[in-house]
Amino acid sequence: MRRMMGQRFFSAPQLAEEVGIETHQAEIVAETLTREGFVQPWFAPQCPNCEGIWAAFIGEDDIPRDVHCPFCGEATPDDLVEFYLVYERLKELPD
Ligand SMILES: [Zn+2]
Repeated sequence: MRRMMGQRFFSAPQLAEEVGIETHQAEIVAETLTREGFVQPWFAPQCPNCEGIWAAFIGEDDIPRDVHCPFCGEATPDDLVEFYLVYERLKELPD
């Protein structure tokens, strides 16, 4: 996951690990950062074919019936795709 997402995106569990807090605390922090405009939340599908993860959709309504993987080109019905909530860093996070 870390390898796929790089530095630009993070998930709540990654943030928790990085800062040394519980995941549910990290979720609250991420929500605050979203409200303050520091991060943008995305739905990131994981392709069941090649396991690639990419930040693809801002809202649940944006998720199509078939999710096309940009890595292997496979189209997978959305109910077979695992979705993660990730956050895109829009600016430097405050200390
Ligand atoms: Zn794929």
